Amino acid sequence: MPPVSESCIFCRIAKGELPSIKIYEDDDILAFLDINPVSSGHTLVIPKGHYETLLDIPDALGAKMTPALARIGRAIMTATKADGFNCLQNNFAASGQIVFHSHWHVIPRFDGDGLKQWPHKTNVDAAALQAVAEAIRAAL
Ligand code: AMP
Ligand code: ZN
Repeated sequence: MPPVSESCIFCRIAKGELPSIKIYEDDDILAFLDINPVSSGHTLVIPKGHYETLLDIPDALGAKMTPALARIGRAIMTATKADGFNCLQNNFAASGQIVFHSHWHVIPRFDGDGLKQWPHKTNVDAAALQAVAEAIRAAL
């Protein structure tokens, strides 16, 4: 049996204890509309089991997420006539994660919709890029 948290809002949605507007469901995965959408059709895709962040999701379950996300993303583009979509996942509070049951946001996007993502740093020192790359490789 996958892990469950009695106090987790998404576990309670997965169990049917709290309402949601369902988009897709299989044995392992549930997709439902975000209650405060960025754009119409904004969908959350969750593993039914309680895994707090991406780091906690077992590999076999993770392998099932990508095809589900692609299927849902394709359906969202068809249904909303979106020109694209963002597939976003927040991990830990510093990233903006509010619900600590891992989830992917699938957000329909339209040409010229004006939604901005993060500011990028430009003119970053080449040595700094090499140093951070080395640190990440060493941590793998
Ligand atoms: P995050 O910041 O990645 O943790 O995002 C959590 C998302 O969950 C937000 O976009 C909320 O609008 C959404 N959310 C919270 N409670 C519910 C709920 N009961 N049903 C649907 N979406 C929810
Ligand atoms: Zn949960």
